[in-house]
Order: sequence, then C-alpha cells, then structure tokens
Amino acid sequence: TPLSVLDPKGSPTIEETYAKMASRLQVVRKTLNRPLTLAEKILFAHLDDPTTKVTRGETYLKLRPDRVAMQDATAQMAVLQFISSGLPKTAVPSTIHCDHLIAAENGSAKDLHAAQVTNKEVYDFLASAGAKFGIGFWKPGSGIIHQIILENYAFPGGLIIGTDSHTPNAGGLGLLAIGVGGADAVDVMAGMPWELKAPKVIGVKLTGEMSGWTSPKDVILKLAGILTVKGGTGAIVEYFGPGVETVSATGLATIANMGAEIGATTSTFPYTQKMSDYLRATKREGLADAADKFKANLSADEGCEYDQLIEINLSDLKPHLNGPFTPDWAHVVGPEFKKTLEEKKWPEELSAGLIGSCTNSSYEDMTRSAALTKQALAAGLKFKVPFHVTPGSEQVRATIDRDGLIGTFEEAGASVLANACGPCIGQWHRKDVEKGSKNSIITSYNRNFAKRNDGNPGTHAFVSSPELVTATAFAGTITFDPTRDTIKTPDGKDFKFAPPVGMELPPRGFDPGEDTFQAPPENSSGLEVSVDPASQRLALLEAFDRWNGKDLTDMPVLIKAKGKCTTDHISMAGPWLKFRGHLDNISNNLLIGAENAETGKINEVTNIITGEKGKVPEVARQYKAKGVSWVVVGDENYGEGSSREHAALEPRHLGGRAIIVKSFARIHETNLKKQGMLPLTFADPKDYDRISGHDRLSILGLSDLQPGKPLKVLVKPAGGKAPFEITVNHTFNEEQIDWFKYGSALNRMKAMAK
Ligand code: SF4
Repeated sequence: TPLSVLDPKGSPTIEETYAKMASRLQVVRKTLNRPLTLAEKILFAHLDDPTTKVTRGETYLKLRPDRVAMQDATAQMAVLQFISSGLPKTAVPSTIHCDHLIAAENGSAKDLHAAQVTNKEVYDFLASAGAKFGIGFWKPGSGIIHQIILENYAFPGGLIIGTDSHTPNAGGLGLLAIGVGGADAVDVMAGMPWELKAPKVIGVKLTGEMSGWTSPKDVILKLAGILTVKGGTGAIVEYFGPGVETVSATGLATIANMGAEIGATTSTFPYTQKMSDYLRATKREGLADAADKFKANLSADEGCEYDQLIEINLSDLKPHLNGPFTPDWAHVVGPEFKKTLEEKKWPEELSAGLIGSCTNSSYEDMTRSAALTKQALAAGLKFKVPFHVTPGSEQVRATIDRDGLIGTFEEAGASVLANACGPCIGQWHRKDVEKGSKNSIITSYNRNFAKRNDGNPGTHAFVSSPELVTATAFAGTITFDPTRDTIKTPDGKDFKFAPPVGMELPPRGFDPGEDTFQAPPENSSGLEVSVDPASQRLALLEAFDRWNGKDLTDMPVLIKAKGKCTTDHISMAGPWLKFRGHLDNISNNLLIGAENAETGKINEVTNIITGEKGKVPEVARQYKAKGVSWVVVGDENYGEGSSREHAALEPRHLGGRAIIVKSFARIHETNLKKQGMLPLTFADPKDYDRISGHDRLSILGLSDLQPGKPLKVLVKPAGGKAPFEITVNHTFNEEQIDWFKYGSALNRMKAMAK
C-alpha cells in the first residue's frame, strides 16, 4: 500500500515504513531500556542511527523524515538550492503547495485569477521544477498546504517536515509533523539526515467529553492561556487520556495546528478509531488497516515520563476567544470577558467574522457553522458584519458546495474566498475599514498579532472556534455569549441559538472537486526548469566557489554589529519577501537592520578602502567587486529568530567568509556552515571590544581546520596600531569541514553524487 497514491512509483509503502520503524524501535529499546512516550517512539523510529543514546533536551538527533512539504513562498529558495545540488530527483517524496501568494479582495474566482497573473513566473518555475525533480505540485486553488497534507499524505506514526510553521496540523492523524526552514528541507530532499535537538515532551491528559458550544479549538485556546506563547518551546506536546478518543481527527488537527502558537516543536495524539475513520473517508483504507495492526507502536508506553504534565477535562471546558494581538491571552466567553473588554477599551462592535483557513475548515467545522447559520436564517436574520469563508482545500470546498453549505452561508450574506491563506497572512485587501481605525474582528484562524490579517495596527483580532465566529457575526458584537444572549429578529422577537450540531464526515463521501494536482511525470529527463533570465523575482543559484586552500587574509570588517541581531536584522522580511527566489535582489537587504556598534546607526558603514560611508549591502558589493572577502563581527546569540536560510546565503553571495561573534543561535550557525561560511566565536568574549569596524582580520591555520581545535585571528587595527592575535572557537565536525572546503554543503553533495 503506497503512503500516498499521489507519490511517484517506487516510493515507500506503509508496510515497508512500519517494518523499518519497528526494527529501529527494537534497537532503541535495548539501548534506552525505559518506557517511551509516543513522541519518542515516532522520533526514535526515524533515527538514522538507532543506537544513538538519547537524552531529552540535549542530544542532537539525526532523523530520516518520511516526506517534505513546501508552501510556495518558502519553496522558491528551497527548490533553487535543490537544483544547485545537481541531484536528478528528491530522495524522499516531496510536494509544493500554492497557497500563500493568493490575496483576498474580490471573491474566489477573481482573486485566484489575479494571483495566477501576478505570480505566473513563480508558479511556472515551481511547476516545472516539480515535474523535473519528482516533486508533486499542487496548483493555486488546490488549497492550503496543511489541509492537503491531512487529506492526502499524513499517516499515523509518520515524520513529516514542512517549510511552514503550522505543519504540525498533520498531527491530527497521530504523527509528528514539524515546521522547518528551507535549508532543512533541502537536506532531506537531497538525502541527508535532518538534525533536531531531542525535544522535551509535555504531556496533556484529556478526560471527559465536549458538548454544546465547546469545540476542539477551545482545548488549544485554553492550553495557550496556560502555557503562553513560549511555554512549548523545545518541546513536543503529546496528548493522551480517554478524552482523545472523543475528538474527530480533524478536531485533533486543529489542536495540533495551533500548538505552533505556544512555540511547541509539534503536537501529537495516540492513534484512535476516529483517525481510522478519517483515513477511510479519504480513501486510504490500506493505511488504516496497517495502522490498526501497528497500533501498539502508536501510543505511549505505560509508565512513560513527561517533562511537564497538564490535565484538561473536556466536560468542564468553556468556549474561549483569545486576543487581541496575542493568541495566549485567553478569555472565556461571557460576562468576565465583557468586563475585561470595557476595562481595556477594546471595540465591542464587530467589523468582520472569518472562518476556515488551515486551522478550522473541516467538514465538521463547516457543518456546525452552517447549522447555526440555518437557525439564524430561519429566524429572519442575516450576518450583521462581513462574513468570509476560506475553505482549506478544493476537496472541502467542493464537498460543502455539493452539500449546500456554501449556499446556506451565502444566503445569509457570506462571501466565499479562494482555497488559500488570504486574510490569514495579511493578504486581505479590506475596503470597508480605514488603515489605523480601531476595530474588532473575530476569526477561526490561529495567529492574531497586530496587522496579521489586514495590515491595520488598529484591528483587534480575536481567535476562536468557527461556531463562535458564526454566532457573533450574526450578533454584531464581540462580547456576544450565545449560551445566554439573544438577538432581536426583524419581527421583534428574541432569538437564541441552540447549540451547534455538525457531522464529522460527509455522509455522501468527499467530493474531490476540480483536479488541481500535477503529478511528476515518470520520465523527466527532457524537461527544463523555466526561469526567465530577466526575472526580478527568480534566479537560478550559482555554485559558491571552493576554498582555495589558503588562509583568509586582510579581510575588512563589513560591520561590527551591536546587540540583538536576529535573522530579521540580517535578512529583513516585509517587502523583501517577493525576492525570496532571487538571491542577488534579496541581498540588497543584507544586515540593513543591524546596529553599527561604533556609530549606533542602522544600515551605515564605512568602506575602509575608499573611506566613504555607505549602506551595508552597497559596501559589501563594493568589496566583492574588488575581489575582497570580508567578515562580520557580532554580539550574543547572533542569528536568533526564524530559521530563514537567506540570512546565511546573502553574506556568502556578497563575498563574506566569516562571522565572528560572542555566541550564535544554533540554527543560523549551521546554516552558515552549509553555505561555506566560517561561523566563529570569540574564545574570550572581551575580544569583541578590541576589534573595530575599521580593522582588517586574517583567519590563520585553516589548512589544519579540525573539530574542536580553535583558530587564530590576526587583527590589524586601523591607524597603524600594533597587530595582535586572538583565539576563536568553532563547532565544525568532519563533515562540516568538508562543507567549508567544497564551498558549501551542496557543492560537497554534488561532488559525492558523481
Ligand atoms: Fe499559515 Fe494561515 Fe496559511 Fe495556515 S492559512 S498556512 S496559518 S498563512
């Protein structure tokens, strides 16, 4: 049985996958000899070397994920890097999903068409690269990456990585799905193991059963309130207990999806009957049968230990809405919330309600919301504020259309948007609310940071269940409590909602809708990848040059950065995102957010050859044009933040060779190594103060670069002062030293493949 019928021929079957997992687990059990959590079982069953002795929170695991998924914004650079590896096909089944680049403005069909025109070159590139390298391509309109993974690719016990932070959504089917940066995706597609620090495991015991207005979303909204946006950092949240059995697979996916909001690596659940039902409903009976047999490995061992334990009784759980501006500000619907709102002076009047997105657009969500809509329609009510529905996939859209749900929503005044991210990622061109004006919206999405939905800092966004969004959109006020409050109908009566009732799965089965998948052809040898050489958004990558075997001498300091220097300071987001597939263009944002330690200025440094001041990327280009390599000097935790690989690619592209700092954020440090850079740390942090932005630095002893052996740096200060030597450390292992020597990890890989 294939893991997915959509994968290329010869891809692993579920039987092979489970057999491999079982044999690895056997080895791990011998080494560890203790009961395992479910998260550990899945991770350890994917270890490259199952004899690894693991300590949670410490050991770096080398893992072999089952598949890779990429959304269109992050896929561009990942695919470009894969192309430059020179490999003919991806080593594991991989997919690309066109969902992030579709803006919401004039309704589904028009918006989709507009996106196809605006993003044509990006879509053409991704489609042609997908065909060439064996990557499944989901066209614009197919839906949101996480919903499509759940419907087609997720399987109990699997390990999936995806270049998007809500990849954990797939955890609803009892697997580990983890959001990563593009560089990690490239490694796995190129056949290298993927590294992850063994996460801690937070156990969440669910007891009881939900009823009435409470929904799976409330589990995670409550947990976010308990753990806050940082509480899950470095940990997998593993649910267990009798309550898990009572929640639908898609409901579990909602809970797993929003685990990203508490910073968790991912979330997962033991295999349940409802997961089996969902697999069967999505035509994957073979997977369900295999999982039934493999069940013992798909839940935690009796007596396993969690690093933290939390219990939630679903019978006591209340409907929540969280926000504004942060998803962990949890409020229970009712009078307490009304009081808080008045105290904080948040706008009570609602300006819009939005349901759907990757978080909440299951058939169950939609039927429950539609059931409420029907009640309101029967009472003569219409939505009081604009109400938008974002289906998570074409399959969901076609099914709810066939079953009359879209008709119901539209009858009450809703608009149905494209099957895409749209308003969830700021691609919502609102015309009814002016920028800056204070207003409240309620969504069934996951994130609600300022400006996240409509770019307006005055928008107070609350996240909640689709049911509550629907009810409040009829009431027109954010404080509406459907369990107590009533709405005046046109004929003057008081209307009160009955609690929502829905269906987990469509009784008539799913309607796949329009075929929006491009399978990679079996023979792709004659195919070309289309990149217009004149494009401003895409450019093929040129391989970085190999190390010439000599020490790097007399390199100017491009910038001595002070204080926080995150990947956002190094490679800014915002308007630069459109250049993600064009390394030379996006390099114009190199370090433009970093503070110059000597002047306190942002984006201004001195070219020490000409003595003239200039912007950081400009001066880097001037050095590069003269064939002069340069270094960056930085402070503590350099490169923290997102795992954006552009922050490592850009300095290398513009001629940087070393980054010398007090300390690194680990992912960025590895990313720099992958691009052939030298990430080095001061052996004595005080040496940071001895170097100025006008000095020249030589890195000595490179021909003897060895793991654990420090290097010397000769500093020639400006103004003719006496040169001095300092010691710097590095964390290169043997393989990574090769990355440096070959010029990049991809160069090495290419050389090995020959
Ligand atoms: Fe991310 Fe929102 Fe798209 Fe989900 S719908 S993948 S949260 S942008």
